[in-house]
Amino acid sequence: MNFISHHLLLLSITTLFLFLSISAAEEDPLSSSSIVSRFQRYLQINTVQPNPQYYEAADFIISQAKSLSLEYHTVEFVVGKPLVLLKWPGSNPNLPSILLNSHTDVVPFEHHKWTHPPLGAHIDSHGNIYARGSQDMKCVGMQYLEAIRRLKASGFEPVRSVYLSFVPDEEIGGHGGAEKFAESDEFKKLNVAIVLDEGLPSPSENYRAFYGERSPWWLVIKAVGAPGHGAKLYDNAALENLFKSIESVRRFRASQFDLLKAGLKAEGEVVSVNMVSLKAGTPSPTGFVMNLQPSEAEAGFDVRLPPTADPESLERRIAEEWAPVSRNMTFEFKQKESIYDKFGKPALTAIDSSNPWWNLLEEAVRNANGKLGNPEIFPASTDARYFRNQGLPAIGFSPMANTPSLLHDHNEFLNQAEYLKGIEVYESIIKSYASYVGRDNFKDEL
Ligand SMILES: [Zn+2]
Repeated sequence: MNFISHHLLLLSITTLFLFLSISAAEEDPLSSSSIVSRFQRYLQINTVQPNPQYYEAADFIISQAKSLSLEYHTVEFVVGKPLVLLKWPGSNPNLPSILLNSHTDVVPFEHHKWTHPPLGAHIDSHGNIYARGSQDMKCVGMQYLEAIRRLKASGFEPVRSVYLSFVPDEEIGGHGGAEKFAESDEFKKLNVAIVLDEGLPSPSENYRAFYGERSPWWLVIKAVGAPGHGAKLYDNAALENLFKSIESVRRFRASQFDLLKAGLKAEGEVVSVNMVSLKAGTPSPTGFVMNLQPSEAEAGFDVRLPPTADPESLERRIAEEWAPVSRNMTFEFKQKESIYDKFGKPALTAIDSSNPWWNLLEEAVRNANGKLGNPEIFPASTDARYFRNQGLPAIGFSPMANTPSLLHDHNEFLNQAEYLKGIEVYESIIKSYASYVGRDNFKDEL
């Protein structure tokens, strides 16, 4: 048998298997294998930044909506970046609705550092599904849909309307997606009571849930000073001034890190400061001029503030200690996000009895035999902040327990058993949320 006919035979066998597996999927859309194969199909769509194939993803999501008899339409707040909105209408349209949000884009990858192709969705012998987006967060988007598939099959009918938004561009800041959506009239018309968005995997058996997130302050501090001979010792050289600041920043960083190391605070509860850039030196054809102290120098820092921090005192610290005028220092923010919502309150979702949605979530996870850890502040940023900014409660939750966190890492994977378990958890949550007829939140009492 020559190479070509061997391949033809393989090809026809593969086609036969494909045909068989497709017909099997058509026979029982609720079988584990068809659920997992739909997840694989979504993972295989190239929605990698900076050139996500958004229309391909939208077509796929709409095909799922059709198979579930959900209402659907797309909105383009930015041309070429479709946001797909699905609706499962509730029996009481007067009650505020539930919004299940997920982003369709994923971050890039270094292909050769992966064990399996990052867009292949290969399943290994342990049942681990390898793909970019398997944790962040194509899993969640599909789990919402699969939970609805199961609820529909069981005959469940929601009282509140359930919306699903599949938004673009989260991985590049959400400005062309969730930010515009949350501020739109379109969004106001949905009359949303509670938003679910992404969380993080947990290496333990407890799921993680997030009720706030830290705000990024991207800070650049600049020093100027008289240039001078490399051999001369003198005060107020630009780099000397900058280094005094860097020492001060590092002392603050250590004090925050100590709280974390001692277990007194969680990762999302401290102010993190990390130096991300350092710029100085007078270029020469062979590198830098070595006998000249430069007249300018700057350093960049990624600072993250929890909503519980005191932004005024940090800003004072920056002006007085990190970039004081007395050392000829200046500073600017490349980005500075407020820790407050648009009503001037810290952007935190209540996690006590004042917020019925929190209690319902806890109970629903328990009813699905899941365990929930203590609620946390998300250490980085997600689209949930745009909804919290509107004064809405938003909970970050991705049901992945017993899973190492591999967001944005090589070899991102999710075990299929864990994926299937997560669908049951969402089934329980959506059922509970969509049936709830009590008060919406504490603001009703104001
Ligand atoms: Zn994400």
